[in-house]
Amino acid sequence: MPTNKIVIITGASRGIGAATAKLFAQKGYAVCINFLTDEIAAKPLKNEILQFNVKCITVKADVSKACEVQRLFDTVDQELGCLSVLVNNVGILKKQCRLDEIDEQRFSQVLTTNVMSCFLCSKQAVKRISSKYGGKGGAIINVSSGAAKSGSPNEYIDYAASKGAINSLTKGLALEVANEAIRVNAVRPGLIHTDIHTSGGEPSRIERLKSKIPMQRGGQPAEVAEAIYWLASEKSSFVTGSFVDIAGGL
Ligand code: NAD
Repeated sequence: MPTNKIVIITGASRGIGAATAKLFAQKGYAVCINFLTDEIAAKPLKNEILQFNVKCITVKADVSKACEVQRLFDTVDQELGCLSVLVNNVGILKKQCRLDEIDEQRFSQVLTTNVMSCFLCSKQAVKRISSKYGGKGGAIINVSSGAAKSGSPNEYIDYAASKGAINSLTKGLALEVANEAIRVNAVRPGLIHTDIHTSGGEPSRIERLKSKIPMQRGGQPAEVAEAIYWLASEKSSFVTGSFVDIAGGL
């Protein structure tokens, strides 16, 4: 049953973003799937979402760049209407290595993609949904990581640092807009089976990580999507500035 609610999910052509897009569509949201390069995956996902009788658009945009973020949000305004929910899902993970192998270019790319995207998209979303600017209110959900707590030594301290910044952005923004009818929260997934690990993780790392997880398995993207949806829904109406761990007890 379509609602009059609209969600933008960044980096949504695959993985956690795609699972989240499908769940919001199933719940009646009109969905904007943002993607960077993966048009081949975004198109069938859109077709799948249209089966739920909701509107869906795909928008190619590099959300770490201000002008592309502006175009993404303007397109949603024009084609879908007034935004209700933003899911800041974009994230990259580079090859695992120690500090001395991380150069400035990599550090800068990871921080820019993971943090600047969240900052720029949140800024656009607040302008559009805040009651202060005449909007109807809504929710922002950031996809952080358990890595922010562990620090990911010897593997990805750049990635962990970027997720630490996401946590601070989540807390700060939540308090800043708490009286503007916008709730801001984050999920902190642990090991989730997605393609992000094909770029960053060695297969032995996945097995090593699994053995440390009390539930003795990795999670599925749909299990993260459920928590994101809950944080967007009225069921979490008094929750803001909070973090939900989806990590099998790790
Ligand atoms: P994924 O690699 O499948 O998805 C990330 C998506 O972001 C990709 O589709 C990629 O093309 C897109 N993207 C990257 N840079 C972009 C940009 N500048 N503009 C637009 N899109 C861009 O990985 P995933 O596991 O689904 O990751 C989703 C989120 O979950 C990320 O923030 C990741 O850090 C976080 N996370 C994942 C895990 C895990 O184990 N999979 C654990 C903790 C946190």
